Amino acid sequence: MAQGFASGECLVVPLVPCVTAPMTHDELLEWSRRAAEWALDYHKSLRDRPVRAQVDYGATATQLPAVAPEAPEPMSHIFKDFEAIVPDAMTHWQHPRFFAYFAANASPASMLAEQLTNAIAAQAMLWQTSPAATEIEQVMVGWLRDALGLAGHFTGTVHDSATTATLCAVLTMRDRAMGWRSVEDGLCGGPRLRIYASAQTHSSVDKAVRLAGIGQANLVKIPTQADYGMDPAALDQAIRDDLAAGYKPAGVVVCSGGTSIGAFDPVAACIAVAKAHDLYTHVDAAWAGSAMICPEFRALWDGVDRADSVVFNPHKWLGVQFDCAIQFLADPAPQIRSLGLRPDYLQTLGQDQIVNFNEWTVPLGRRFRALKIWFVLRAYGLEGLRARIRNHVAWAHELADVVGEMGGFDIVTPCALSLFTFRYRDDAATEALLARINDDGRVYLTQTQHEGQFVIRVQVGQFDCTRHDVMMVAKVLRDLT
Ligand SMILES: *Cc1c(COP(=O)(O)O)cnc(C)c1O
Repeated sequence: MAQGFASGECLVVPLVPCVTAPMTHDELLEWSRRAAEWALDYHKSLRDRPVRAQVDYGATATQLPAVAPEAPEPMSHIFKDFEAIVPDAMTHWQHPRFFAYFAANASPASMLAEQLTNAIAAQAMLWQTSPAATEIEQVMVGWLRDALGLAGHFTGTVHDSATTATLCAVLTMRDRAMGWRSVEDGLCGGPRLRIYASAQTHSSVDKAVRLAGIGQANLVKIPTQADYGMDPAALDQAIRDDLAAGYKPAGVVVCSGGTSIGAFDPVAACIAVAKAHDLYTHVDAAWAGSAMICPEFRALWDGVDRADSVVFNPHKWLGVQFDCAIQFLADPAPQIRSLGLRPDYLQTLGQDQIVNFNEWTVPLGRRFRALKIWFVLRAYGLEGLRARIRNHVAWAHELADVVGEMGGFDIVTPCALSLFTFRYRDDAATEALLARINDDGRVYLTQTQHEGQFVIRVQVGQFDCTRHDVMMVAKVLRDLT
């Protein structure tokens, strides 16, 4: 220590006397133990807590002082406030009866890996800033590619979210369709680009098209067939119509497990149409991709091996906690051509062949996300993870059968893997029932619109849920109607 500061001493002369010594690494050890004990108690308490936060908007903010403290505060005070203010004002995503949205599973092995990532706190932007992060990421992408049964030519990277992966794919579609001129010259004066997707695709596709400067109006929503998958003939017709009208088709986003009701586009047929028109393809399997570790579900995305880009989120169903999205790429070169920059200060001299993952994505700074994948795949094994997903799918079917038999209830869309929707009598009764369910708190469900109707979604996918937890949904529905 050049200045001779003892740890715990104030480094600058404070305006107020330094009553409390700022936190040190020795204290971090003690408080980490306390945090781990708290985490176990919290986890054990989950079934006794309401799943969705039962607080009013603004109630938490008013419990905090309006301005930051000038002087250091002891961790004992901070921790006490955390316990008093935070847990009751959270919706509990690790609650075994969380059936809303999609799960955001955090397995214990993943939590442990994140603790270690926290301790190292590295920036994984370049290979040389974190060699192990880059190389474990490369190996994990390969492990997951093989686990999902994807062809061996795919490489890939780990993003924060599917939204980022889809944005990267759309930016690549854009620049490829522009003959890469857009990278230097921008979009001005160029052709009007078109991107194609079904109405069941996630809003992240709309966002990507906006961010890419292509414009919402140039995202063409292709009609779906009876099973809510994209109609390949309608896709082909839309592309032909656009070509005739002077547009420049750029790419197709294929939906493999939609967020609303779990729609699956016919991947092989959609990609065949796209390839016939030389369009770039991206498959969004953010939720359903995890299920592909089970060979029996892979027919749902048959043909995926011809895709240019595929995204799936281990942070949804695989137990690798948020944030963790994998983008597989048939060839990373086009995406790097769009996004890869090497200013002087980022040159890794004499290392031209080295992978620097920031060149594959939007942000420069990157977290070391691969460690938690490594821990989870080893701690549970693919067989253990498959067993969980198979249980979730089986229990969702069982629950849908029970709900479908109950008076006043209709299954609106059947189980797509572990996701189904139902309604109770009419829109108003369904909406009122949903409010009662979530005020009750034993389970948490959310809604969507399907063909103009208000429906309630049930997705089974929480890492620790049991058959009993799942069947609790039927009991709550009976109790509240
Ligand atoms: C959840 C989801 C997304 C968005 O995922 P993020 O990682 O939150 O960006 C995109 N597409 C589908 C199909 C999803 O289910």
